Amino acid sequence: MDFECPLCNALINVNENCPRCGSKMEDYGRVEDFFEPYNPYLDRDLVSMGEPKHQCIHLFACPDCGYDSRIVINQIPV
Ligand SMILES: [Zn+2]
Ligand SMILES: [Zn+2]
Repeated sequence: MDFECPLCNALINVNENCPRCGSKMEDYGRVEDFFEPYNPYLDRDLVSMGEPKHQCIHLFACPDCGYDSRIVINQIPV
Protein backbone atom coordinates (compact mmCIF):
# COMPACT_ATOMS: atom_id res chain seq x y z
CA MET A 1 0.00 0.00 0.00
CA ASP A 2 1.30 3.41 -0.92
CA PHE A 3 0.97 6.45 1.22
CA GLU A 4 0.66 9.90 -0.21
CA CYS A 5 0.67 13.27 1.42
CA PRO A 6 -2.78 14.83 0.92
CA LEU A 7 -1.30 18.29 0.99
CA CYS A 8 1.30 17.55 -1.71
CA ASN A 9 -1.52 16.14 -3.81
CA ALA A 10 -3.80 19.11 -3.22
CA LEU A 11 -6.43 16.98 -1.51
CA ILE A 12 -6.57 19.20 1.54
CA ASN A 13 -5.96 22.77 2.44
CA VAL A 14 -4.12 23.81 5.53
CA ASN A 15 -4.93 27.22 6.86
CA GLU A 16 -2.37 28.43 9.31
CA ASN A 17 -2.24 31.95 10.58
CA CYS A 18 1.03 33.52 11.49
CA PRO A 19 1.36 33.59 15.29
CA ARG A 20 3.40 36.75 15.02
CA CYS A 21 1.34 39.00 12.76
CA GLY A 22 -1.81 37.03 11.99
CA SER A 23 -1.38 36.85 8.22
CA LYS A 24 -2.21 33.67 6.37
CA MET A 25 0.88 31.49 6.06
CA GLU A 26 1.79 29.93 2.74
CA ASP A 27 2.79 26.36 2.01
CA TYR A 28 6.31 26.35 0.64
CA GLY A 29 6.34 22.62 0.05
CA ARG A 30 8.07 19.68 1.58
CA VAL A 31 10.93 20.36 3.94
CA GLU A 32 12.83 17.52 2.30
CA ASP A 33 12.80 19.40 -0.99
CA PHE A 34 14.61 22.26 0.68
CA PHE A 35 17.16 20.45 2.74
CA GLU A 36 17.85 17.18 1.00
CA PRO A 37 20.74 18.46 -1.16
CA TYR A 38 22.45 19.69 1.96
CA ASN A 39 21.67 16.77 4.19
CA PRO A 40 22.90 13.41 2.91
CA TYR A 41 22.09 11.86 6.29
CA LEU A 42 18.36 12.38 6.01
CA ASP A 43 17.64 9.27 3.97
CA ARG A 44 19.92 7.17 6.07
CA ASP A 45 18.16 8.32 9.22
CA LEU A 46 14.80 7.42 7.78
CA VAL A 47 16.00 3.97 6.81
CA SER A 48 17.60 3.32 10.17
CA MET A 49 14.35 4.09 11.95
CA GLY A 50 12.81 1.02 10.39
CA GLU A 51 9.10 1.65 10.12
CA PRO A 52 8.28 4.39 7.67
CA LYS A 53 6.45 7.14 9.46
CA HIS A 54 4.11 8.09 6.64
CA GLN A 55 4.46 11.72 7.38
CA CYS A 56 5.25 14.66 5.20
CA ILE A 57 6.73 17.74 6.76
CA HIS A 58 5.84 20.98 5.09
CA LEU A 59 7.42 24.34 5.46
CA PHE A 60 4.96 27.15 6.04
CA ALA A 61 6.09 30.72 6.00
CA CYS A 62 4.45 34.07 6.49
CA PRO A 63 4.82 36.29 3.43
CA ASP A 64 4.46 39.41 5.54
CA CYS A 65 6.92 39.00 8.39
CA GLY A 66 8.97 35.98 7.36
CA TYR A 67 8.02 33.77 10.27
CA ASP A 68 8.25 30.11 9.33
CA SER A 69 7.27 26.83 10.89
CA ARG A 70 7.13 23.18 9.99
CA ILE A 71 3.83 21.37 9.89
CA VAL A 72 3.61 17.59 9.96
CA ILE A 73 1.04 16.15 7.58
CA ASN A 74 -0.04 12.56 8.09
CA GLN A 75 0.02 10.69 4.82
CA ILE A 76 -3.01 8.73 3.71
CA PRO A 77 -3.17 5.35 1.97
CA VAL A 78 -4.01 5.49 -1.70
ZN1 LIG B 1 3.41 16.77 1.54
ZN1 LIG C 1 3.69 37.05 9.96
